[in-house]
Amino acid sequence: MKIIPLTIPTPFYVGDVNVYLIKEDPVTLIDVGPKTPEAARALRDKLAANGISFGDIRRIVLTHAHEDHCGLAKQVRDEAKNAEILVHNWETGQLFGRLSHEHHKRLLLRSGVPAGVFDEMRTLYDKISLLTDELDDGEFLPLKDEMELEFESGSLSVIHTPGHTPGSCSFAREANRTLICGDCVLKRITPNPIVSPDPVDPERRFPSLAEYLVSLAKLRAFKPTLVYGGHGEAVTDFEEIFNRYVRAIEDRQKRVISLVSKSGSTAFDVAQQLFPKSFDHDVHRFLAVSEAIAHLDYAESEGKVAIEINGNVEFYKTL
Ligand SMILES: [Zn+2]
Repeated sequence: MKIIPLTIPTPFYVGDVNVYLIKEDPVTLIDVGPKTPEAARALRDKLAANGISFGDIRRIVLTHAHEDHCGLAKQVRDEAKNAEILVHNWETGQLFGRLSHEHHKRLLLRSGVPAGVFDEMRTLYDKISLLTDELDDGEFLPLKDEMELEFESGSLSVIHTPGHTPGSCSFAREANRTLICGDCVLKRITPNPIVSPDPVDPERRFPSLAEYLVSLAKLRAFKPTLVYGGHGEAVTDFEEIFNRYVRAIEDRQKRVISLVSKSGSTAFDVAQQLFPKSFDHDVHRFLAVSEAIAHLDYAESEGKVAIEINGNVEFYKTL
């Protein structure tokens, strides 16, 4: 099975996104790129260079439903007519509404994000959300852990790898220990666990960092020799990246815990101290808050800080 990486431009700070073409029956794209004319043109051209048109695509598989990865899914599907879209059902419909969704608002306000800042985040998110068509329930087939995606020459196994998002999935080719894993493993960046309602109980936050660590361990158990990520070049030294991530997470845990004051700090307070520069830039501010929440929740689950609720806002306190 030949996996062909194609690089597609995005308007995001992260730069290009990688999508993967598997050119055998059924012709499959893993991720598609954002819904911009530039990305659509690049995808069309790069597929054409491989002898494929949108009309030939039979299956669109999404690692997760962030705009840079999934934006063009419906457009490609509509042109391909018979193509099906597969994505984990924790990524779609209501859950995909992210910041526009009431649950998100509640979670962020509870984390100490001021209402005005939340409104700015929402305005920004409304703009970002134009870079994809929403995937409604019933418009896709759900990806499930351990499911096999069959091809002429073999199959890819689905591994549910929550963390970056609750429904993030990776795809494993046993025969040559190859993984395609979206934003779960990236060569140059440690992926952000993005704040999200828990799909099982949307009143709660998804324990993104704890889940991410479990996902990394699952991928490690597969002993991959080649890992194709959502951005940047492929990883051939997974063990080294794994160790680097674990060290970076441990260091950040210590730093985050050191920023929690005796009298109590919100995740928003901690985010401001953790990434003072990112507060000049809207998207980075949201990512900074996500990172702080993920780390504080993890520290709480490890018994290193406690949460006290005061006036609907959560304050973390050192013990
Ligand atoms: Zn991405």
